[in-house]
Amino acid sequence: MVVDGSWWTGGALVVLAWHNVEGTWQWPAPAGAGAAGFRRQMRALRAATNVVPLDEALQALSAGRRLPPRAVAITFDDGYRDNLDVAVPILRELGLPATVFLVPDLLDGNLDPWWERLAWAVTTAEDPLLEFEGGIYPLTDERTRRTTLDRLQEVLKRRTDAERRAAVAQITESLTCRGPQHDPRRMFLDWEGARALVRAGIGIGSHTTGHAILARETPHAQREDLIGSRRRLQDELDLPIDVLAYPNGQVGDYSAETIAAARAAGYSHSVTAWGLVNGPQTEVHEIRRRLLSPTDPATKVLLGIGYRTVVGGGDDVQRSHAELSSTDGVHPKVDEDRY
Ligand SMILES: [Zn+2]
Repeated sequence: MVVDGSWWTGGALVVLAWHNVEGTWQWPAPAGAGAAGFRRQMRALRAATNVVPLDEALQALSAGRRLPPRAVAITFDDGYRDNLDVAVPILRELGLPATVFLVPDLLDGNLDPWWERLAWAVTTAEDPLLEFEGGIYPLTDERTRRTTLDRLQEVLKRRTDAERRAAVAQITESLTCRGPQHDPRRMFLDWEGARALVRAGIGIGSHTTGHAILARETPHAQREDLIGSRRRLQDELDLPIDVLAYPNGQVGDYSAETIAAARAAGYSHSVTAWGLVNGPQTEVHEIRRRLLSPTDPATKVLLGIGYRTVVGGGDDVQRSHAELSSTDGVHPKVDEDRY
């Protein structure tokens, strides 16, 4: 990856994105590993970058105002409950701002996110294989289950939201899952939890009404969705909602019609899930954003956003900060073993 070194010296913004902190069906992790990893990542970012609030940073960027050097914004998508229970205490302790992109239908408690339901079914099925639309998907061990899940998700992401929900219902009904149950209400925040995020000083953005992958829907449906989700979040949480995060967020998951709908609905900016560095010229409805997992080593996070080498982690990153500022991030040694 080539990063223009000038972004370190000011005028540019890197936006990072997480989903859950602790393990879920979709992103399994040993208990506690997510919280520990996320804390290390946050300490490394605090030591090595300037973490800024997303909305203010985007406004400044678009207005041509100068951002601090090494400006990084922290975001979360979907509204997993552990954003409030696990991430917020860590962010608060370290004094770091963050933004969570929420889905009104999920906060209502009447939406079961298709990716978690599918991952639950594929992970816990007692069947040795799944037959779906003429295809055979093995479920014999952990590895084949993961491959099956990846294949199904790729197929389903190309469909409309209604088609995808119907397919997930068909798949889950065809499998025998008698083990642990999937409970979206425990996994995701409700409105009370969303209000607790606001009270904790977390910024809020829209992640659509029901997490449809926008470009698969009609232009009319996209407009209705984006107007409705913005209005609902503003009314319930009593604060302006100016930033949108596109579900799935890759090129092709939003279209020219999506951007027109986002403008018409009144969003000032929209964030994607691809690319890295944003400058004053970046299209405001195509803000680059890098997805991370809480178990990614903190060194990998820093290397991924432009540091050429990183020494140590945690407290060591803190100690190396002064050095880093004066040497443009060049250090003699990479040590990932600590993570
Ligand atoms: Zn999402």
